[in-house]
Amino acid sequence: MIEIMPIGGFREVGKNCTAIKVDNEVIILDMGLHLQHYIDYTQDEDEADLSLEKLIEIKAVPDINMIKDWIPLTKAICISHAHLDHVGAAPFLASKFKCPIHGTPYTIEVLKALIADKEIRVHNKLISHDANAMFRVSDNIKIEFISVTHSVVHTALVAVHTKYGTVVYANDFKLDNQPTLGLKSNIGRMKEMKNVKALIIDSLYAHKPIKTPSESVARELLRDVMLSTNSKGKAMIISTFSSHLARIKSILEFSKILNRQVVFLGRSIEKYIMAGERCGIVEFSKQAKIIKYRREVQKFLKNCKNPEDYVFVVTGHQGEPKSVLARMIFNNYFQFRTEDIVIFSCHVIPGEANIKNREIMETELKRKKVRIFRDIHVSGHGAREDQRDLINLIEPQILLPAHSEINVTEQFLELAEEMGYKENKNVFILKNGHKFKIE
Ligand SMILES: [Zn+2]
Repeated sequence: MIEIMPIGGFREVGKNCTAIKVDNEVIILDMGLHLQHYIDYTQDEDEADLSLEKLIEIKAVPDINMIKDWIPLTKAICISHAHLDHVGAAPFLASKFKCPIHGTPYTIEVLKALIADKEIRVHNKLISHDANAMFRVSDNIKIEFISVTHSVVHTALVAVHTKYGTVVYANDFKLDNQPTLGLKSNIGRMKEMKNVKALIIDSLYAHKPIKTPSESVARELLRDVMLSTNSKGKAMIISTFSSHLARIKSILEFSKILNRQVVFLGRSIEKYIMAGERCGIVEFSKQAKIIKYRREVQKFLKNCKNPEDYVFVVTGHQGEPKSVLARMIFNNYFQFRTEDIVIFSCHVIPGEANIKNREIMETELKRKKVRIFRDIHVSGHGAREDQRDLINLIEPQILLPAHSEINVTEQFLELAEEMGYKENKNVFILKNGHKFKIE
């Protein structure tokens, strides 16, 4: 029998984690951080208590006490991709499990960097597999990674193959037909799979009645702003997601056309770029300058006499108070001049703190008479029509929407019912801590 235990990321956005029990063996899919809870807790304290008990209490990591009896039965932890809400809790939780952690090369490289950052000992073996790989974790369970597009390279759907059928975990994905970096989605393999008992599906944008535009559209938005705006004699500052190597690649290419050197400023950008270089996906450090530490960032910006010769790529797209962009604006790391250019290649992630922080930042930039270009971005999450396509490709018997607040998850039901599924018969809105059995 297959049992599914949602541990985190159901009826909420963050700390994704699902356990799947097949007879007496368990697989854990993702160990994500709840970023907002983690940041709210850690930002005000220099010596925050990062013990597992505390992190569970403040709901920053999945509560593995929900599967206490399953911990000794766990054969593998499989991480779907390198975003913190999927991998960020692994450094804190994985040691409780005596089994390896599996992921694609970029995911494993990022995990290694996170472990090094936190200075935590993690005893689990870290095993990296191709984005399209099949491997055996026990006599009865095979895991398959199936390459899928998202906003970070080497994202995989994870298929758990058992004698009872297959469970597919599609958290997160979009179906991008023109990705600008990395592999395409392995549509052929998705179509080929038979006897898929259940599909756990990213439903973050179930309320958006569109197909999410391709990353190549974001590239055109960026091209338009970077190349068509009169930037002569002006500073150009861009902030985007540090892990979004495809977006960073576009920034590098357009900067070259502008004859400006790219300077990456900030620790997190350095971390994600170097992880990409270690697994041979990109070679950005040859084409750009990377400045990691705060003091050096400050020194470089203060001494920079000719900002018009550079494109500064900085942290701070969500208005984070400790980011490089915030320090440039509020701590005088940089002398802004009239009509300098700041490009936010992102959306503001909904949440009180982000919205407020960005507002404060933009108000100050406007006061300094800086030109602001917002939302030069497309999302990495599929919307309603991507979800429909994935369901049609995989033809699962049961649908289990995840990765959204309850009001959005409920909108997923509308699509499911349109496609012939019925609530509580073959589409279920699961709740963290409530076990679901597949008969
Ligand atoms: Zn993601």
